[in-house]
Amino acid sequence: QAKMDGRGRYAFFTPNMDEDVRQRETINRELRVALADCDSQLRLHYQPVYLLATGRVVAVEALLRWEHPENGLVTPDAFIRTAEETGHIEVLGNWVLRKAMNDARAWPDLRISVNVSPIQVRSRLFVTTVRRILQETDIAPSRLEIELTETALMSASLEVTEALHSLRELGVTCALDDFGTGYSSLSHIRDIAVDRIKIDRSFVNAVDTVPGAALVEAIVSLASANGLHLTAEGVETRAQLDFLRRVGCHEVQGYFMAQPLAAEAVTELLQGQRGSGWLHVLPATDAA
Ligand code: C2E
Ligand code: MG
Ligand code: MG
Ligand code: MG
Repeated sequence: QAKMDGRGRYAFFTPNMDEDVRQRETINRELRVALADCDSQLRLHYQPVYLLATGRVVAVEALLRWEHPENGLVTPDAFIRTAEETGHIEVLGNWVLRKAMNDARAWPDLRISVNVSPIQVRSRLFVTTVRRILQETDIAPSRLEIELTETALMSASLEVTEALHSLRELGVTCALDDFGTGYSSLSHIRDIAVDRIKIDRSFVNAVDTVPGAALVEAIVSLASANGLHLTAEGVETRAQLDFLRRVGCHEVQGYFMAQPLAAEAVTELLQGQRGSGWLHVLPATDAA
């Protein structure tokens, strides 16, 4: 069997592609088992987000992990797409929302970011489900922020746009994730009513080059001028942190500050954070 690939050449199914299909079938089958009892195999880790102005943790992002009985901890990139293709994403996504809102009760002052798939948001029941989960867990809607990737948002159907508007009426905010990896213009972003932009880590990674730095600086000033909140993702070095502070980015997230943590570790981190926050414990730098 052969078909044309994107560049107009013939692509043949190779043993590798067979392997790929088999692997997805395996993931699909095992995911179905995991979803029958989510609490036994699924975990949420939470990565702290720091407000640069105070140096304190103001939010956490929930990141899904699958504790596979044989393969150990599996990251979402390995199974979200399969879950979307098979429709499992709805059960999965609802579990994530409920679990995150339940855990959030231990951290009264934090915003909780939850990644959602456009397929999940498109469901007729999505807004109702979010509202019900917030009521059941007694979490103020303003503490929940949902994250959709730029690519997902740009190709969003009317259902997705409408769901986002309903959520906003409820008080839930929305962030545009992985900004810079899609092809949206900031003027388009104004139309789809997001509250926050998360600058993709590939851009943060490049701030030590002249064009990279200029690009991030431009994103920061355009977003600020449009009243959008800004979080930089994937901050891994002190130099990146200092740069982001200097150009006026609002919030930072990344391995340099903190890895994704189990819920109990977040509670401990917050307890140790009395007084000034972690970022302010860092000595002032003269590099800036
Ligand atoms: P994302 O939402 O952009 O999440 C940030 C990813 O970057 C996470 O990967 C995080 O662990 C990683 N990261 C954080 N700081 C650093 C850093 O300093 N350096 C580097 N190299 N990486 C960093 P993770 O947890 O593997 O998640 C991958 C993606 O899977 C997420 O990207 C998100 O799009 C998706 N995802 C995660 N959880 C869920 C979920 O519950 N539902 C859905 N639909 N998607 C999810
Ligand atoms: Mg995200
Ligand atoms: Mg991201
Ligand atoms: Mg991502």
